[in-house]
Amino acid sequence: ELESGEASASLDGGAASPAFKAGSLDVRDLDMAYGDLQVLKQIRLKVEPGTVTCIIGPSGSGKSTLLRCLNRLVEPKAGDVLLDGESILAMRPERLRRRVGMVFQHFNLFPNHTALENVMLALTRIKGTATSQARRQAEARLAEVGLAARKDYRPSRLSGGQQQRVAIARALAMDPEVILFDEVTSALDPELVKGVLNLMADLGRRGMTMIVVTHEMGFARKVADQVAFMDEGRIVEVGPPADIFDRPKSPRLKQFLAEVL
Ligand code: ADP
Ligand code: MG
Repeated sequence: ELESGEASASLDGGAASPAFKAGSLDVRDLDMAYGDLQVLKQIRLKVEPGTVTCIIGPSGSGKSTLLRCLNRLVEPKAGDVLLDGESILAMRPERLRRRVGMVFQHFNLFPNHTALENVMLALTRIKGTATSQARRQAEARLAEVGLAARKDYRPSRLSGGQQQRVAIARALAMDPEVILFDEVTSALDPELVKGVLNLMADLGRRGMTMIVVTHEMGFARKVADQVAFMDEGRIVEVGPPADIFDRPKSPRLKQFLAEVL
């Protein structure tokens, strides 16, 4: 297993990689319901360019639904989200999803394609990049996540951590302004979690705007610029990690931290 060595390789690659074009998000009074079930209630959140926002909170509090609204995998009932000042509701969803990428808990890779092909297919099919150029870009992205040596492996021959890094390379290949991460380490074996978290911290240091739903409180404390605590469809508290973790105000956050820390 080369997990840790590969993770540090990504740090070296990162230094030489071009800067990200970081986007801002402004979530304005967002409401969302599944039928009669009100899942998001008056969500307000500002995300500055090049910052990391972690979202924490109990299961069922609406964290995934919030991320899904941000790239319109589901449509909000009311409110708006501005991406660099522009309403996402006025954008074509396909265009929005190139600008706001997403990485999931289950990597959603094509099993019959190699790591390289998985990244290339996103480029050729979604971005319309020509094959030879897509190959070069995909190789660069895989090198960036420390997987140059595994580019011709199929997902079944990669560890969960390596598969997740292919999924991150695929998201990066779209040149997004924002990347959403939904519990991307929750399905990984414990020894593989750190490599993926290190890669995400590296992207944050390089200035990618990221919104990260996570149960990894150590990551949130160390990497986040702001942490939002959600409960029952609301953002109950938001602030710098030191305030959220060391000086929680609301009883619900205090109780949540007592359970998870
Ligand atoms: P979290 O990610 O914080 O666990 P979710 O956003 O997945 O929360 O879910 C919030 C609420 O919405 C939960 O009550 C969940 O059961 C419900 N929910 C999620 N997805 C759907 C769906 N596709 N249809 C109906 N209800 C859903
Ligand atoms: Mg979820």
